Amino acid sequence: MTYTLSMATTEDRPVPFIDLVPQFNAMSAEIMATVEKVFSEQKFILGEEVSELEREIAEYCDARHAIGCNSGTDALIIALQALGIGEGDEVITTPFSFFATASSICRAGATPVFVDIDPETFNLDANAVEEAITPRTKAIMPVHLFGQCCDMENLWRIAQKYDLEIVEDACQAIGAEYQGRRTGVLGSVACFSFFPTKNLGGAGDGGMMTTDDPELAKRLKCLRVHGDIGQYEHIEVGMNSRLDSLQAAVLRVKLRKLDSWTEARQKNADQYAEMFRQEGVLDTIVLPKIEPNRRHVFNQYCIRVRQGHRDQLMQHLKSKKIGCAVYYPKPLHLQKCFKHLGYRPGQFPESEAASRDILALPSYPELPASDQVRVVAAVSDACKELRANKSQRRAA
Ligand SMILES: *Cc1c(COP(=O)(O)O)cnc(C)c1O
Repeated sequence: MTYTLSMATTEDRPVPFIDLVPQFNAMSAEIMATVEKVFSEQKFILGEEVSELEREIAEYCDARHAIGCNSGTDALIIALQALGIGEGDEVITTPFSFFATASSICRAGATPVFVDIDPETFNLDANAVEEAITPRTKAIMPVHLFGQCCDMENLWRIAQKYDLEIVEDACQAIGAEYQGRRTGVLGSVACFSFFPTKNLGGAGDGGMMTTDDPELAKRLKCLRVHGDIGQYEHIEVGMNSRLDSLQAAVLRVKLRKLDSWTEARQKNADQYAEMFRQEGVLDTIVLPKIEPNRRHVFNQYCIRVRQGHRDQLMQHLKSKKIGCAVYYPKPLHLQKCFKHLGYRPGQFPESEAASRDILALPSYPELPASDQVRVVAAVSDACKELRANKSQRRAA
């Protein structure tokens, strides 16, 4: 075989952590057609596309009601407000999540109370929740991190015992299942994000809330438009957090493909597991744990790098032009803006260790198989190098 320049460029080409272009290219005609339709009608705020998307998302989650809004962050704030949670109330959540999980609690006027995570799933440790409950506790906000559901059975038991609401932060977990039930119906209300890199991503910001409770649905709907019940009658001070028709139209086209994308993400995860096992590097990295009775939708594929070698491994991937990311480098209880809450370093050792060890690898649905092979080769090379260095040090 003759060596060609194109082969060399293939090898040197960077492997992006995520690339949204191939997905758009595969469906650009459908998306542009629906965008044209919205423009030709010139109805940009709420409207039919939004109510149709709401109906479809409700059906997808098997929830009675779905209410669109501006973002996942707003969904969380509005959900808390609709449940009457605010000033003087406490909400128990995880410090190992995206910032908006905790900031939404503050924005609603309440106080986030953190408990540590389960080191194997990175999700809220349900066994630690009970001891954090005080007379002010009003709700638990579990985050189905990276696309896998929390230990809901235990959270349901605690919520029932102490009469607490459950607000699902399902921003990374649309379509994830717990004992055959989808996110969206695992608590009093669930919040979704359509940020472009989520499993169902729009052409900008967008969000959704789902609930089975008709009264709550009414209040969510009212709060997203200035607490307006119609005819400029304002019954409470709400937000301006409507979903655009344009976003809804694009999301409706994409929703039809969501399950096939989820399957592609799961296949990527299976292949990673198989290849890393074959490479014999599981003494250095830990693969994501999939709990029984769950459908993991892999918004992120996160490995754990043992013995503090994460940053070295990342350096190696960088030198090979292979994209990777850290979710999340600093747990929320140590963020400057939450200093007044009085948490200290060392207080949530599992969250802090996860922040040091975790590494997300490329796993978007269209990830080319050849790219995945290069990721595995680079990670495995780094693991073997680390192992060699260690045995050298031991010999010295
Ligand atoms: C993305 C995300 C959010 C916020 O969603 P936005 O639409 O970006 O506001 C909240 N919580 C988690 C866990 C997320 O991943």
